[in-house]
Amino acid sequence: MEAIEKTIKAGEILKRVVKEAEEKVAVGSRILDVAEFIENRIVELGARPAFPCNISINSDAAHSTPARGDERVFKKGDLVKIDIGAHIDGYIADMAISIDLGDHGDLIRAAREAVFNAIDVVKAGVDTARIGKVIEETIKNYGFKPVVNLSGHGLLPYLAHAPPSIYNYATQKGIELEEGMVIAIEPFATDGVGKVVERGECEIYSLLNPKPLRLRTMREIVSEISEKYKTLPFAKRWLNVSDLWISKLVREGVLREYPVLTEVSRRAVSQWEHTVIVEKDCARVVTL
Ligand code: MN
Ligand code: MN
Repeated sequence: MEAIEKTIKAGEILKRVVKEAEEKVAVGSRILDVAEFIENRIVELGARPAFPCNISINSDAAHSTPARGDERVFKKGDLVKIDIGAHIDGYIADMAISIDLGDHGDLIRAAREAVFNAIDVVKAGVDTARIGKVIEETIKNYGFKPVVNLSGHGLLPYLAHAPPSIYNYATQKGIELEEGMVIAIEPFATDGVGKVVERGECEIYSLLNPKPLRLRTMREIVSEISEKYKTLPFAKRWLNVSDLWISKLVREGVLREYPVLTEVSRRAVSQWEHTVIVEKDCARVVTL
C-alpha cells in the first residue's frame, strides 16, 4: 500500500468507528466503555489508535481520556466531544465530532459548519490564514467565539501534530498549502471567552526524549513505550505501570504530558474535525 492509500484506509476505519460509537454515547453509559470500544474497534478493523480516544465533556475541550477503572457516565445536558485518530504504519487520520445530550444544537452546528466552510476553500496554494478567517467568520455568525489557542495541524508519519498550524481565527499571515499535504482542520466553538487553560488532571503522555536512564525499571518502561507507540501519544491506562514511575519520567524530561484543556470561563465547547489531503483544485476529505 502507498502512503496515501494508508491515510485513506485509516480515514475509512475512523468514520466507521465514529458512526458505531455515536450510538453508544447515551445518558448513563460509561465513558470508559465508549473509549475502549473505539480503541478496540480501530485495531479490529486493521489500524492502530494514533492517540488515546479523547472524550472531552462540556467545558473540557481536549486531552481528556478516562483513567483505568473510571466509573464516570454520560449525564443529561452533556456536550460530548469524541476525538479519535487511527494510523496504518504511521499514516494518520484524525477526526472529531460533538454529540448533544442537552441543548447545545447551535454551538455544535457552528463548529461543524466552520469545518465544512474551511474545507470548501482548501486547495494547493491557499494560505492557512484564509482558512482561519473562514472558521472565525462562521463561528461568529452564530454569535459564538472560536477557541484561539487550539488549532488544526499537519499530519506526518508518526507525528500527530505536525506543521503547519491551522488556526481557528484570522491570522496576519499563514503558510501556503501544498499539493499532497495531509492536514486536520478542527474548529472549536464556545459561548465563553474562547481560550483554554490546563487543568491539573493528566492521563495522556508521549515519548519526548528517550535519553539513557540509570534505573532499569525506567529503561524497561521507556523501551515498552518506544516499541508500542513510538512518538505517538498513549494513555496511562494502556500501560501496567504505577503513577509514580510516570511522574518520575516526566520530571526527567523523558515523557511529555498532555493535561486536560478546559475553557477558561468554564463554558461549553464544541468541536468538529476532518482530515483532508490537499489537492491541486480541492480538498479530498478522508474522514467523510
Ligand atoms: Mn483530533
Ligand atoms: Mn487533530
